[in-house]
Amino acid sequence: MDVFEYVKTDVKTRNGMIRPNTFRVVAGPCTVESREQFAAGAEAVKQAGFEYVRGGAFKPRTSPYSFQGLGEEGLKIMSEVAGDLGLKIVTEVMDPYDIELVMEHAHVLQIGARNMQNYPLLRRVGAAIAGTDHGVVLKRGLSATVEEWILAAEYVTSAGGDNVVLCERGIRTFETSTRFTLDLSAVIVAKRLTDLPVIVDPSHAAGRSDLVIPLSKAAVAAEADGLMVESHHDPQEALCDGEQALPIPALLGLKDVLRPFAGAMGREVI
Ligand code: PEP
Ligand code: MN
Repeated sequence: MDVFEYVKTDVKTRNGMIRPNTFRVVAGPCTVESREQFAAGAEAVKQAGFEYVRGGAFKPRTSPYSFQGLGEEGLKIMSEVAGDLGLKIVTEVMDPYDIELVMEHAHVLQIGARNMQNYPLLRRVGAAIAGTDHGVVLKRGLSATVEEWILAAEYVTSAGGDNVVLCERGIRTFETSTRFTLDLSAVIVAKRLTDLPVIVDPSHAAGRSDLVIPLSKAAVAAEADGLMVESHHDPQEALCDGEQALPIPALLGLKDVLRPFAGAMGREVI
């Protein structure tokens, strides 16, 4: 594919979230709202048999009047709760000034869809994680091509960050029955063009919880290396993205639901 001829990434993920022949599930609430709320979410992730919990402390909200996250307080809640449970944390960093703070509390730094082309942030995150055990999850931009997405990853890898996971989270299309449109072909294309692992976020793609499990099954079949799913102990009361949050019983059943599909792909759900 000529247009991709300057894509250089040949970095194998070094020490990160994704291991061979596994299908990694990251789950948890969109946002840390309180200690009690995050603890309920994290305990469910542990009980569901997963090793990574997600939760936002710095939230990229469309409206400046929406809840913006608890910031540093949210990071502390996450690291204390997850530390007690032995879970690793994935959380978003939006501002280059917060990178070190986020790294103190989290194992994996998420770069959100809205920041996929924030090149100073990408470079600084790449330099900050170089030589550490931290990883990066790079969400695909809302309207980014696969080429733009991979080249954004190269900003991180070329700055020294060799532990990058791509995350397809749905793109803007004319379709309105879902919040975004999950582009599974992009997962396959990105995996053919790079050695970076690719995970799928069916929650933001669908924007509705009833589609999360069917899309998760499809992600396994599309050769994805894992999932990032949102879940909440009380979706109707969630401060952010409640419509797309898997209720706890569904999260607890997720491993069993995915196991046969992953098995067919030669992978173990972890
Ligand atoms: C999120 O993971 O909560 C989030 C805001 O994701 P995205 O950047 O994909 O919208
Ligand atoms: Mn969210």
